[in-house]
Amino acid sequence: MSLYFIFTVDGDWDEYFSTELSKAKRRPDKKNLLRLIKHEIKIARSVGGKLLHFVHTSPVDRQYFLQPDFIALWKEIQDIGGSIGVHCHEEDLFSNGRLDDLAMMEQSIRSLTEPLRNEGLSLISYRGGYLAFCKSIIPVLERNGIFFDFSCFPGRYLHYKGKLISDWRGAPKNYYRMCYQDQRKDGKSDIIEISLGKIKQRALYCDITSLSDIWMIARHLAKKEKTSKSDIIVSMLTHTYELASPWKRFRIRTALFICSLYGKFINDKQIPEIVKKKGTRKT
Ligand SMILES: [Zn+2]
Repeated sequence: MSLYFIFTVDGDWDEYFSTELSKAKRRPDKKNLLRLIKHEIKIARSVGGKLLHFVHTSPVDRQYFLQPDFIALWKEIQDIGGSIGVHCHEEDLFSNGRLDDLAMMEQSIRSLTEPLRNEGLSLISYRGGYLAFCKSIIPVLERNGIFFDFSCFPGRYLHYKGKLISDWRGAPKNYYRMCYQDQRKDGKSDIIEISLGKIKQRALYCDITSLSDIWMIARHLAKKEKTSKSDIIVSMLTHTYELASPWKRFRIRTALFICSLYGKFINDKQIPEIVKKKGTRKT
């Protein structure tokens, strides 16, 4: 069978995470951010433009990435063979244990999908901020035309102020159709989960994984794919703020090159064709 990678970049910036700052000061520097996203595009060209950039939305600024300069970049990503997706940072909700506040989550998703689709952009993928996910959001994604989720980091769980907001313990390491009752299990929803590539305790999380470990993961996935009864699709993760450093840009480019020796980079629009071939798979 075949091994496929999806290069994903979460569109966050440094100041956003400085929660002690005022809302105004947590907003990004436009010139800098435009420059970093242009670097993303340049690097993505080394894998045929197959970039999935997750556009950030949060209470810090809902309209920020709807500015014409950014929309031009989203269109460029789409033109070179990539896609954009929805990245909701709704920490206000999960800190209050209300990640299942579906009205708010829907509003957050629509704050991007509606205006950006009106611009002719296609959005079919979602990733929660901090990889947070609540099973009750599955129908919300379905009715908003989102059919792929990228929040799964198999084995990960995150406590935030005493609340468990991300629980991926026991989740499959290859793609699966999510279960309405448990996001970590195979089921009958319309949402296909694409997990972060993981072998042993190491993941294709560029920001925190050495190049030798990325190589180890790619090699192991390729080995697994040879005996697997279905294709393997996994994601690789980095963030826009990582693109600020020339050394990190070099690392990302090298990580992409290593993976491309063992598998093929695709965009999210190519997933249905691959999934259709085999239907859902078992772990
Ligand atoms: Zn994020």
